[in-house]
Amino acid sequence: MRLTPRREEVEAVKALLESPDFSSADQMAKAVIKEVAEILQMRDWVALVHTWAGGHRGLNFAPFGTEAEAQSFATKMAFGGTGRLVRLSSPGVMLANTSGKKGWKGYCLHPECGHAPFAHSAASAARGACQIPTCPCDRFRK
Ligand SMILES: [Zn+2]
Ligand SMILES: [Zn+2]
Repeated sequence: MRLTPRREEVEAVKALLESPDFSSADQMAKAVIKEVAEILQMRDWVALVHTWAGGHRGLNFAPFGTEAEAQSFATKMAFGGTGRLVRLSSPGVMLANTSGKKGWKGYCLHPECGHAPFAHSAASAARGACQIPTCPCDRFRK
C-alpha cells in the first residue's frame, strides 16, 4: 500500500504524538491507529480484479495506492489468468460530502459547518454561504 503522506495527515498524527492527554502508550497507539484508519478511508485506492484462464472468478487484491503498484504486484505473482484494475472510491469522502467533515482539509473550516465546497453558494468567486438548510455557515472557510 504505497502512499505519500500529505502535510495535513502528518500534522494530525503529530498532534496525537505530542498530546499530553494520554496516560499510557497503549492509549496513544490506539488513537494513532484510529486516526490513520480515518486518513486512509479518505483516499481512493486501486484493486486488482482477477479472472482465471478458464473464466472463473479469481482472486481479488486490494488496496493498492497506485495502478503501477497493482501492476507490479500482478507481474511478480504471475499466477495466470487475466487481471484488470478497478478504482475504489473513498467511502470516507462520499460520507463527508453528504454529512460534512468538521476540521478536515478541503471541507469548510467554519466551526459549525464542515460541508464540502460545492455545498456552498458559488454566486461569487469567493465562495458564499453554505446551502445546507440547517447550517449557519455564512462563508466557505479554507
Ligand atoms: Zn455547512
Ligand atoms: Zn461552510
